[in-house]
Amino acid sequence: MEQNRDINQFDIQLAKRIYLNKPKSILFKKLLLFSPFLFLLFSLASLRLIKNIELGTFSILNFQDERNPELRILGHLPYNEISKDKLVLIEPNVEVHIDMRNSLLNLREEAKKDGIYLVFLSGFRSINLQNEIFYSLKSLRNQEAAERARVSAPPGYSEHSTGFAIDIGDAAQRETDFETEFENTDAFRWLIKNAAKFHFKLSFNKNNKYIDYEPWHWRYEGSIEALKVFETSNREL
Ligand SMILES: [Zn+2]
Repeated sequence: MEQNRDINQFDIQLAKRIYLNKPKSILFKKLLLFSPFLFLLFSLASLRLIKNIELGTFSILNFQDERNPELRILGHLPYNEISKDKLVLIEPNVEVHIDMRNSLLNLREEAKKDGIYLVFLSGFRSINLQNEIFYSLKSLRNQEAAERARVSAPPGYSEHSTGFAIDIGDAAQRETDFETEFENTDAFRWLIKNAAKFHFKLSFNKNNKYIDYEPWHWRYEGSIEALKVFETSNREL
């Protein structure tokens, strides 16, 4: 009996040895051992390929900003519409974000002390209104969307939808309302000198590569919420 058992054990060990020495099995074992590395290599290669395809697609669509190629439409950044309960009426037809109300009214009061009379032309604009402005004016002027986008934001892409933007005119020179010539008014010179004290900033200056210069269009950056809203825009400057 004992002898038989020994023989059996010997057979098994021998069988094992033969199994281990089979060249195909060694190859299989090696593959098994290296499979995690192969998997990692394959994943990295795939990721690279996907990234290249994505970048390739965006460059075909002619997006100019490589840092945020998916964000802009015709040069404009997307903005959400602020909820109604955060808006206040500061005069007939001009609503603004409640956070900037006091700053804006103080700005106008300070200007008045210097003999400058500022006019608030346009504050909050809903995405629906922006839709009307963008498409009706575009067809009236017989312009293509890309041309129109240089002077007006497409719906969903206007700073006015945030409630933190304000278009300002000079009461003494109303003919310059929404015109580049506004930059030659006393009101504009006063704003350039003083607006920052009230946390207002010119949104589209002469260096903006996407949108035409808008000396009348200012935005408020005096709260964390406002800074968050304009974070991307400021990062790109
Ligand atoms: Zn504006």
